[in-house]
Amino acid sequence: MSNSEQPDKIHLPRTSESEPIKKIRHTTSHVMAMAVQKLFPKAQVTIGPWIENGFYYDFDSPEPFTEKDLKAIKKEMVRIINRKLPVTREEVSREEAQRRIEAIAEPYKLEILNDIETEPITIYHVGDQWWDLCAGPHVDNTADLNPEAIELESVAGAYWRGDETKAQLQRIYGTAWETPEQLAEYKRRKEEALRRDHRKLGRELGLFIFADPVGPGLPLWTPKGTVLRSLLEDFLKQEQIKRGYLPVVTPHISRVDLFKISGHWQKYKEDMFPMMAESEEDKANEIGFVMKPMNCPFHIQIYKSELRSYRELPMRLAEFGTVYRYEQSGELGGLTRVRGFTVDDSHLFVTPEQLDAEFLSVVDLTLTVFKSLQLKNFRVRLSFRDPTSDKYIGSDESWDKAEGAIRRAVETLGMNYFEGIGEAAFYGPKLDFIFQDALDREWQLGTVQIDYNLPERFELEYVAEDGTRKRPVMIHRAPFGSLDRLIGILIEEYAGDFPLWLSPVQIRLLPVTEEQMAFTQRVATQMRSVGIRVEVDASGERLGKMIRNAEKQKIPVMAVVGAKEVEAEALSIRTRASGELGSVPVAEVTEKIKDAIAHFGNF
Ligand SMILES: [Zn+2]
Ligand SMILES: [Zn+2]
Repeated sequence: MSNSEQPDKIHLPRTSESEPIKKIRHTTSHVMAMAVQKLFPKAQVTIGPWIENGFYYDFDSPEPFTEKDLKAIKKEMVRIINRKLPVTREEVSREEAQRRIEAIAEPYKLEILNDIETEPITIYHVGDQWWDLCAGPHVDNTADLNPEAIELESVAGAYWRGDETKAQLQRIYGTAWETPEQLAEYKRRKEEALRRDHRKLGRELGLFIFADPVGPGLPLWTPKGTVLRSLLEDFLKQEQIKRGYLPVVTPHISRVDLFKISGHWQKYKEDMFPMMAESEEDKANEIGFVMKPMNCPFHIQIYKSELRSYRELPMRLAEFGTVYRYEQSGELGGLTRVRGFTVDDSHLFVTPEQLDAEFLSVVDLTLTVFKSLQLKNFRVRLSFRDPTSDKYIGSDESWDKAEGAIRRAVETLGMNYFEGIGEAAFYGPKLDFIFQDALDREWQLGTVQIDYNLPERFELEYVAEDGTRKRPVMIHRAPFGSLDRLIGILIEEYAGDFPLWLSPVQIRLLPVTEEQMAFTQRVATQMRSVGIRVEVDASGERLGKMIRNAEKQKIPVMAVVGAKEVEAEALSIRTRASGELGSVPVAEVTEKIKDAIAHFGNF
């Protein structure tokens, strides 16, 4: 809940929040373009924005840039910086801008100029020999840039305007920081991110794959990955049973009408897979079936199937529901952005009086989940309405109540929170759990939302104690958010080293020779019978090789079985968490593993 203490940690400014770093990156991109045009006079500049961690510039150049070229360009950049050139802003009329562009014969600039709607046109000069159209901002002098905090990283192909029918350009990516220490820290994190990359580790550890004929954004879960998914599901299901949740299962498709009532069709049609219609006529009349983008309307139908009494509330319907979103293929990446994913979804139907207590218990469940997953570094955002806006539905009174319930819950639990005014959904406020990973990147995990809209749209009711019909309030909640995305985040957070209880294989037995095989198999059978996930390495490889293979697979416990071990009914243990532990009796190993599983700990 609190930020872990790392006193000597270097803070890297984020582009989105820091003006100085934007100026540095923007100016560095101009300096790079200037250097490129000095060394490659035929190269034409197109666009060059700052981005997270750096900048890029796209060039139209007859020869592709090589690694060697990048070195030469960097050298030239240092020369430009050392000349301490002033960076100056000039405002000119559209005609004047056009005249100057024609004078240097740069057709891309002309296209860019035509896209600028406002006047005057701003031009930024670096010294008096080079300029570009730009809105800024920049530093005042190239001397404000530190050559030792700048690096050119890579070259990639890009198309003018991102359109593959247009000219093929070359994009040079660079990174720029305030100090060399920040650059070093950025490089360290980049390397670490590569080491932790869940797409790479997911394949190496045999957890999931993507297959071209299946399509992008559609992961296939292999046996080990499926074990992992089931463990997470079972764990949450157990917690939910303790808290009175009721499991349900609903279909993956429905009539489009369901989503017309909910309003999703009108609002999120573009993000849904296209409707399946039986005929052209049906299609024109919007009659057909859709893949579900959300589970809520299905759970609502179950609620609505009978007249409910206040005695049945709160009713907590829960489902691991797989939903489908028609994401752009260019936006798909590993497990963090997919087209089909499973939500640990639940919808709670409560009376207005029950809202406080139910909200608190949902947050408490979410915290239990994070604790068991060893996710400590997160904060929560209270996403409230903007009182000056009129885009929200529902009375001020119900909003005040709902926001009050959220605030009281986080205060009761003593959580680290901040308020996001204007971040609420139009139908109700929510609480978002934002997790910060080992590399300071932020990920949204679970959310808890209070909803007055869907009960209204679906005309939900319950019979109150006084016999009148009343409208329940809904809480949508998903502690994991998406199971698929959560696994992606966990792989990176643990760097593939899953805690014992979540490891698809918990212990691997390594018999030194064929002579120990019978004993090894017997131990494996015993362990399996008490629920331990055990594997025997029957490859017949040399011990060193078997150990290396188990290490590569990041198996938490390795047990070497030699003649001495068979004699002593023991295993020679080596764990990823604690290293070599020497010879331990088989019974003790079994107990220790069971204990670690029960406490979400390690051996
Ligand atoms: Zn600029
Ligand atoms: Zn929902």
